[in-house]
Amino acid sequence: MTTQTQTTTAPSALVAEVRVEAVERLSPAFVRVTFGGAALRDLSTADGFDTRFKVVFPGPTGLLPRHSAVPEEWQAAWLGMPAEERSPMRTYTIREIRTSGDTVQLVADFVVHEPVGKAVDDLGPACRWALAARPGDVVHVVGPHRLSPIYGGTEFEPGELRDLLVIGDETALPAVARILADVDPGFTGHVFVEVPTSDDIVDLPRHHLIDVSWLVRGSAPQGRRLVAAVRGHLGLPQTDLDTPLPEVPSDLDVEVWETPRYSSAGEDLTTTSAPTAPAAPAAPDLADTYAWIAGESWLVKALRRALVTELGVERSRVAFMGYWREGVAMRS
Ligand SMILES: Cc1cc2nc3c(=O)[nH]c(=O)nc-3n(C[C@H](O)[C@H](O)[C@H](O)COP(=O)(O)OP(=O)(O)OC[C@H]3O[C@@H](n4cnc5c(N)ncnc54)[C@H](O)[C@@H]3O)c2cc1C
Repeated sequence: MTTQTQTTTAPSALVAEVRVEAVERLSPAFVRVTFGGAALRDLSTADGFDTRFKVVFPGPTGLLPRHSAVPEEWQAAWLGMPAEERSPMRTYTIREIRTSGDTVQLVADFVVHEPVGKAVDDLGPACRWALAARPGDVVHVVGPHRLSPIYGGTEFEPGELRDLLVIGDETALPAVARILADVDPGFTGHVFVEVPTSDDIVDLPRHHLIDVSWLVRGSAPQGRRLVAAVRGHLGLPQTDLDTPLPEVPSDLDVEVWETPRYSSAGEDLTTTSAPTAPAAPAAPDLADTYAWIAGESWLVKALRRALVTELGVERSRVAFMGYWREGVAMRS
């Protein structure tokens, strides 16, 4: 008698066809979409914090790729679609996973901007989709599988550090909310969030040792108020809101992604810059601080320069993530 050994490989990710179950306009800038579907039972609930997932929207012809639960097969089907018909893919944050018995729902908050002065067709496919989303709409999502040993979609990793500097614009607000919901009560620090209007300010999970500052953009350019507020907090010279911003050296590409694990610019992650700014007397001590910064690419680069170049903060204690770039459509 021969014995056959079967080896099964854990899937690298969950690929699920999901249906919109609820759509809620939370505020001028946010549409909350609740996705459901049997395949979501395999979604991992282990990570939390800023875990990302991909949403794949119907392409120009209304088609999604051929569905397969095997990520490699699904990806081949997606890549196999003619470029002009290919379903656009964008990255979002898992805002919440709701589990009740056998039912699992995935919640995401989509930033939307109404097409003031431009045609709906000029908006990105994700924004356009979210503005029109209705219960019953079908998309594909690619996220962490409960059997995958490593998904690699969570960047928030403070390690032993218990003092936080968490900074983001509205696209990072879902991650900021999750981070504050998931960190232990012992954390200290500061959170800075810039949103388009005062109606976009939300109640964040409270920690009595973490201060939260909201910046309302109004008519100011993207990220400018946020960068000015953070520079003030760090004891660096203030940015004048009425004069053009200093150019941020474009040593990084569209997708700024500098975390202790990965550098999009291929930098040596073990290096620390010598600080170029003298320490201001009122500047906070950052020796035990973990910095997490996400949002529009310009503000991420500006704050990277402030922290790493001007203040010499160790690269191992910062995560800078360009979530999107003004005037540039994301590729996936
Ligand atoms: C890890 C990660 C997590 C993210 N989490 C979220 C999230 O939870 N919620 C969320 O809303 N976004 C999130 N984003 C950002 C989102 O992926 C981008 O904003 C994406 O570009 C939106 O796609 P789109 O099809 O609307 O626009 P694109 O086709 O990418 O771009 C078209 C045009 O729209 C502009 N544009 C894109 N996004 C915005 C915006 N937010 N405001 C104003 N103009 C914009 C672009 O500059 C471009 O001119 C995340 C990104 C990453 C990398």
